[in-house]
Order: sequence, then C-alpha cells, then structure tokens
Amino acid sequence: MHPTSHRFEENAHRALNDERLQRALTGATGRFVSHRAHAVSERPDFEALREQGRAIKQEALDRLPQLLEEFEEQVVARGGRVHWARDAEEANQHVLRIAKNENVRVIVKSKSMATEEIHLNDALKEGGLEVVETDLGEYILQLDDDYPSHIIAPAVHKTKEQVAEIFERELHETNPPGAGIPGLNAIARRSLRSKFLVADMGISGANFAVAQTGNIVIVENEGNAALCTSLPRIHVAVVGIEKIVPRFDDLQVLLKLLGRSATGQRLTSYTNFLTGVAGEGEEGPQQFHVILLDNGRSRIYDDDVLYGSLRCIRCGACLNACPVYKKAGGHSYGWVYAGPIGAIITPQYLGLEQAPALPYASSLCGACFEVCPVKIEIPHMLLELRNQVVEGSTQASRLPAKRPILEALSFKLFSLAARMPGLWNFATRLGRWALRAKACGGQVPNVELPMLKNWTRDRDLAAPAQQSFREQWAARRGDAQP
Ligand code: SF4
Repeated sequence: MHPTSHRFEENAHRALNDERLQRALTGATGRFVSHRAHAVSERPDFEALREQGRAIKQEALDRLPQLLEEFEEQVVARGGRVHWARDAEEANQHVLRIAKNENVRVIVKSKSMATEEIHLNDALKEGGLEVVETDLGEYILQLDDDYPSHIIAPAVHKTKEQVAEIFERELHETNPPGAGIPGLNAIARRSLRSKFLVADMGISGANFAVAQTGNIVIVENEGNAALCTSLPRIHVAVVGIEKIVPRFDDLQVLLKLLGRSATGQRLTSYTNFLTGVAGEGEEGPQQFHVILLDNGRSRIYDDDVLYGSLRCIRCGACLNACPVYKKAGGHSYGWVYAGPIGAIITPQYLGLEQAPALPYASSLCGACFEVCPVKIEIPHMLLELRNQVVEGSTQASRLPAKRPILEALSFKLFSLAARMPGLWNFATRLGRWALRAKACGGQVPNVELPMLKNWTRDRDLAAPAQQSFREQWAARRGDAQP
C-alpha cells in the first residue's frame, strides 16, 4: 500500500459520505465500547491495574537495551534464534533468507501489525512464496487486496454482505440463504484448513515478549495463531522491540488489561505462550526465529515527549473511543496504524511531512487517554506534534504551511482580542447579537460564515444566551458590567 496520510482530510470526506462504511463503523465501535465498559465495571481495581500496566511498560522502556539482550539469551537457550532488523528491508530479508535456506513454499500467517508495517506479504510474494493470512479479517482483506482499518478488527470497515460478495468472487463459494456470519466462517474455515496442513512456515507477531523467559505471547480468539505457530516446521515471529516486558509475572497484569480494553473479554479465547523449539518427543516447530524490529522505534525512543507512545499494547480502545475515528474510519489515516495512536506513531514512522494533518485529527476531548490501559498521554503528544508541524512550517520549510490562511488569521485576531478586554467584550457582544438574530427555535441554522459554515452544515449550533457568563456573574455579584 502507498501511504495516503498526507490526504487525511480528503480521505475523511470520502469516508463520511460512504453510508455503508458509516453503518459498519457505528455498529462495531459501539459494540467494542459497551463490551469494554461492562468488562471494566467488573473490576473495581481497574484504575489500579492501569497504573500497574503503565509502570510495567515504562520500566520495560527504561531498561529496553538490557531487556532485549536478556530476551535474546533466553530465546537462544531454548533453541531459538534472534535476528535484529533496523528497518523493513532488513526484516523482510531475514524472513526471505530463512525461507530460501529451508526450501519453504507455503507460509501461513496470523494477524500482525508489525508485518503489515513492513509489507512482508509483498516481499514474500515477490520472492515467489505463497503466503496466506489465516485471521478471518486479514484473510478477507487479502482476498480483496485491501488493508486493515483497525488494530484488532482489521476488516471492521466491511459489512457481512461485502464479505459474502468477496467470497463469491474470489473463492467461488456462495453463502447459503440464512447462513449469515456462521456460513461465512464455514467458507473461510474450509478454504484455510488445507493451507495449515501443507504450510512449511508459520509467521506471527507477538503481543508481548518476555525477557526473563524468552517467551512470546499471542492473544487471539480464532485459534489460527495457535495453528500457525505449532503445525509448520518453522515459526518466525516478527516482534517490535517495544513489545518486551521484563518478567513473566507482569503478564498477570497486562493480559487482564488487554482483553478487557480490546474486546471487553476477561481473557481472549486463546492465550499462546510460545517458548523455543519443540523438544524430544514434543510436537511443534523445529525452528523458532524471532525478528526484533526497530523500523523507527529508536527514533521515538529518543524523543522526550513521544517516548511514552512505545508503551502501547495495541488494544485499539483509543480508536473505539475517538469521535474522529468513529466517523472517519481507519483508512482515512492512510497507513497501517489508525486512530489516536496512529495519529502519533504514523508521523514518526513515515515522517511528519508525510502526515502533517494527523495530529489535528482529534478533538482533544481526552477520551483516548481515559480508556488507554497503559495511560499514554495521547492528547499531550498530539499537541506536541501540532507544535512540531507549526515549527516546521515556519522554519526552513521542512513542512509545507498547511493551515489555511483564514484559520491562521482567525487565530491571530483571537489572540489580539484575548489580550484587549475592551475589544473582546465588543466582539463577543456583536457575535452574540448576530447569532441570536439568526436563531430559530433556540438553534442557529446554516451560518454562512467561512469558519462556521462547515460546522453548522451538519450540526445544530445552540443560540447563545442573551447575557454572557461574565455578564451574569457580574450581575449576580452586583459588580459593574465588564
Ligand atoms: S494507545 Fe492505549 S488505548 Fe490506544 S491502542 Fe495503544 S494501549 Fe490501546
């Protein structure tokens, strides 16, 4: 996929006019939000858990170099191998080399955002290998030549009718009338089962990598990751370096947070703890390779403010809570990571000049921070990135001056008025008078002023009160009018 993050506004407009997409988004994000709320309400100690989760991930970041080496030692001690990848190219080359050396032909894959990030499937296909996604959502997207729009529900933008069309077109299988989603599942299962049996290599990501034991941990609901990592003779895990946690016991906290925050489950249906290669008489892979992926993470690590975004455990809760994501959908963000966390990390990975609109794709309402299980200060980071956009557009033209002239002028006038009480009072009285004169039934319809036109086209604007708060306050205290 070619990133289109620089066209966020255009992408979002298209999404807003897509009724099918709007229905799919409203249904899915609404379900995620209510399931999460229910699961969280069962744990009166959820705030304490969040604090513990934040502390564990923070400790992992603070000790990252040492923990990565410890992880490597433990993987090697259990018969595995660790490959270090500075960028996407190196990571893909590692996987291709292993595949070539071992005469691999067919690869099954479980869901992994890290492999999306490095476009591993394209590299494998170019290398002449057959690669099949086995997570249902990812499989649908692979058949439709599409890419994920949500961290944990990659095909959230597709309705079941669209999926039925894709299966009919690509697999020549028709979902029987009345079979609904179970019928679609059955079609996918039939098609995928044979691939698991012939695959030479399974590729996965990881939710956590434990330094103390060399485990990688994968949570899932479909069982496909368990099959991908146990049936083929070779298992390759592509793991971002920020997935490291110090101790096995830390998983007690992180797994409780992840399931509840992601899907509203106490635990997902399967939690896979994978350790090294199969021993004598055991079933499982004969080779276990971990690709430790940097690909821009070290750059984030060096940033005093954005550093904390590496605590992310990719639960997706901030996407479901975000009023912008809920309407714009994941593809508007134009790359692999969407929503509030995508708005922070995409500009880091692609370069801020490739995604200058993303830090503005937020109302800064703080809902993302409220639900984040590891307390990432998302609004604060978005403000920092906005600052970098402005700095970049005014200094040495690193970034194009993206803010419209009218908007820049409005803020200049606002800044002037805010420093001159007389001008402020005059302007706000005038504005109040004009809006009240246009109001009808307590609402101001379609204001034809440039800054308000777009706002009032789709929303009600309540008519302002006759007196401002300051006037009412002064009247109550018996002060002179401001
Ligand atoms: S930023 Fe927080 S809420 Fe968003 S995906 Fe990451 S861990 Fe989840």
